[in-house]
Amino acid sequence: MRTKIVAGNWKMNNNRQQTEELLTTLSARLPETNAEVMVAPAFVNLEAATKKLSDSSIEVVAQNMHFADSGAYTGEVSAAMLQSIGVHTVILGHSERRASFGESDELLAKKVATAIKNKMRIIFCFGEELQDRRAAKHFEVVKRQLSAALFSLAPEAWGQIVLAYEPVWAIGTGETASPAQAQEMHAFIRKTISGAFNESIANSVTILYGGSVKPDNAGEIFSQPDVDGGLIGGASLVADDFIAIINAI
Ligand code: PEP
Repeated sequence: MRTKIVAGNWKMNNNRQQTEELLTTLSARLPETNAEVMVAPAFVNLEAATKKLSDSSIEVVAQNMHFADSGAYTGEVSAAMLQSIGVHTVILGHSERRASFGESDELLAKKVATAIKNKMRIIFCFGEELQDRRAAKHFEVVKRQLSAALFSLAPEAWGQIVLAYEPVWAIGTGETASPAQAQEMHAFIRKTISGAFNESIANSVTILYGGSVKPDNAGEIFSQPDVDGGLIGGASLVADDFIAIINAI
């Protein structure tokens, strides 16, 4: 049985007070679920979030980290810094980091290696752009992104990996991949991992779907056999919507 996860990526939203208010509401109203529930507030609010959720099953995760252990990297945050405030999971490779901050496959491979070395869990994001899908290159692009960052890992490292397939054309656009498109890609991802490693790793890795998941489409997407939950952007900022999405799994 694979771990199911619903994770909210808050991006650059919510100041400290708003963060605490939303977490108070979410922890008070968290439904019974067999999924792990996670939220990723901004760096400056991570510690307040871990304190606020100390008695809750909701996990606090970071949206990014640097590949170096320490040093002259102004504005950056290391794995050890995250661990020291009780954050043990990090999102890496989000399409906004790739597109707006120039994060390449090679850079992400370094970040992944650092997170693994520091015993962190990784939610690794990847997905094709609209032009890739239009040119029928979506499988090729996804395979390249996976292979560059993850295929030199030791097999045991896969216990620290969660995948999040996020077609870029569906992020924040209101356009979702159809449940069939999500299932087709998730099955392809498992087949690709099986080829590079083995069937056992492929069948045990959690693969989330991300891209305009909302209360009204979550149920159908989550019911696909190879979809193990979601990475949720906009809808995770609205307590009612995020709770409805958790309820849909
Ligand atoms: C995301 O940013 O990872 C995301 C999926 O955003 P949204 O749900 O808003 O499309």
